[in-house]
Amino acid sequence: MIKGILLDLSGTLHVGNEAIPGAREAVTRLQRQGLALRFVTNTSRKSTAMLHRQLDSMGFTIPTELLMTAPMAVRSYLESHQLRPHLLIHQNLHEDFADLPQDNPNAVVVGYAEDGFTYAALNAAFRLLKEGAPLLATGKTRYFQGQDGLKLDTGPFLCALEYAAETEAIVLGKPSQEFFHTAVAALGCQPQEVVMIGDDARSDIAGAIAAGLQGILVKTGKYRPGDEQLLPPSAGLAADITAAMESIL
Ligand SMILES: [Mg+2]
Repeated sequence: MIKGILLDLSGTLHVGNEAIPGAREAVTRLQRQGLALRFVTNTSRKSTAMLHRQLDSMGFTIPTELLMTAPMAVRSYLESHQLRPHLLIHQNLHEDFADLPQDNPNAVVVGYAEDGFTYAALNAAFRLLKEGAPLLATGKTRYFQGQDGLKLDTGPFLCALEYAAETEAIVLGKPSQEFFHTAVAALGCQPQEVVMIGDDARSDIAGAIAAGLQGILVKTGKYRPGDEQLLPPSAGLAADITAAMESIL
């Protein structure tokens, strides 16, 4: 029996600033059914406050405390390990890290830095890694669906640093098991009572199933025909969020 739902945002509820048709109604219905919900995203292009405003402007009424972002997971890791980050993150995200000490950095944080992925910035990160600094990341997603087409995400840049410094990143967003287990704990459920709905076969669905959850891939956002071949056999498949919701209720 399903007691909790984790919903991906980009590609599942919206693409860019456009809500996917039926998504608002599906979220409202899930909220009315009394299911425990969390909205989980690796997005590292927006601060939590910006993310909330964007969802609000598209007509989604989602309390901020139900948002679980990968940058928030990275932040709590830095705090609990008393690390001072060298930040390779999107300019919008700096406000979420502004109050952390950043002088004399002893950790590297990689998110979707977009045009901030310059040679100089990557090389400074590489040098810290060579000195033994841990490499933390908001995700390792290869690409995402932007409004004008597919776009490189954090993964390719993270892999470049891992390769050069011969190290392995600690990934704190989807598909890390730690991220899914933190979300399941926030729902007050057992993993098998929770279904993850998302448009990324690897990060959302294979990741959730590996962590003991159930998963449904939606054919919106970044989905491309053939992605179902990346899914474990127990995964579900739905045309969109509305169809996924109906298969649960
Ligand atoms: Mg997505």
